[in-house]
Amino acid sequence: MRDKHLDLRHLSGRCPICGLYPILGLFKRERGEVFSRDVIELRCLCGYSYTLDQYVCPVCGNSDKKLFNLYIIGEVTYRVCTRCKHTLGVIREFRDIDLDLLTLIVAYGLILLSKSLSGT
Ligand SMILES: [Zn+2]
Ligand SMILES: [Zn+2]
Repeated sequence: MRDKHLDLRHLSGRCPICGLYPILGLFKRERGEVFSRDVIELRCLCGYSYTLDQYVCPVCGNSDKKLFNLYIIGEVTYRVCTRCKHTLGVIREFRDIDLDLLTLIVAYGLILLSKSLSGT
């Protein structure tokens, strides 16, 4: 089976189906033939999914781990790219929660986070 890795440089990070930026990512360990790597499976609101290396910003392509700020709310790690300010909610442990619900949880968390980051 071929990896459905996309070259996001041509899409500037937007979902090729609906044109939105991804906000939800599921942390996964992908087994390769020789070694396994940690990837983030991005889940778009429209249901489209694709994988990225663990520390790559889906919007600007930033892959420098030091340029991400991490904020943890509950089970969700919000990863803020300091270069383009895009925030991705990453869930490590995937429990039996409906994906649509997870998207809502992350969307709500993003609102909380942006409120607290704006320093009120
Ligand atoms: Zn989409
Ligand atoms: Zn970025």
